[in-house]
Amino acid sequence: MNGRVYLVGAGPGAPDLLTLRAAGILRRADVVFHDALVHPGTLALAVRARRIAVGKRCGRHSTAQQFINKRLVDAARSHKVVVRLKGGDPMLFGRAQEEIDALRKAGIAFEIVPGVTAAAAAAAELGVSLTRRGISRHVAFVTPRAAAGERANDWAAAVLAADTAVIYMGASLADEIRAELLARGKSANTPVALVESASLPGRHVLHGTLANLPALARQVGGGPAVVLLGEVLKDALADWDAASVAEIEASLRRA
Ligand code: SAH
Repeated sequence: MNGRVYLVGAGPGAPDLLTLRAAGILRRADVVFHDALVHPGTLALAVRARRIAVGKRCGRHSTAQQFINKRLVDAARSHKVVVRLKGGDPMLFGRAQEEIDALRKAGIAFEIVPGVTAAAAAAAELGVSLTRRGISRHVAFVTPRAAAGERANDWAAAVLAADTAVIYMGASLADEIRAELLARGKSANTPVALVESASLPGRHVLHGTLANLPALARQVGGGPAVVLLGEVLKDALADWDAASVAEIEASLRRA
């Protein structure tokens, strides 16, 4: 008798942004294969399970995808409840389809449990709605990052077409993002925001424009970060500027 594999979204970081369904499955889990970024507090819910880290962080060691697929199939042959725990939502930029295909091919039953994706967590940190009447009716989730051997994607076309763009895995590509978007006619004044470690104690929010995106990106520490672009961020940028001017003036008065 094969077990069942659950592809579970762990959310953006904070353990209490996990769904109740995900928490229930983690409590029943026999084995949990988790991403490197999953919070220890979330993993702690898997009280009975063997917990196995399987990558993946940019630039760090990661377990090859095919090997992960095989481990999921093997685990389901000897355990009842197998969890593949992924950051954010499993169906966005998480290579879930490769795992789903492998499970299907092996005849293993699976279920998907959605999670709060980084874009939603970042919007919450910013206090800015990604859609807005009259300003934004088209939101794009984009990544400029393509794996080795993967067909290059025209991520810039998606950003140009959207009213609001959320760029995943893009903070370290800020120079390229700025150059490509400016070359293709995007205004240098487009409001941008960078949100690092959304929902976590180390959260960090930065505002600016496309012109100074690389300078903003250099202020990002080691946490995961998304870049947001679009007019919906304009008011937040103005408030931010006013706040930083007030802060500078206050520190001058103190000096
Ligand atoms: N499946 C995940 C995305 C995986 S790709 C999701 O739905 O969110 C990994 C990228 O997600 C990171 O490079 C970063 O761009 C983004 N990310 C993940 N967690 C984040 C967080 N807490 N704050 C900001 N960005 C985050």
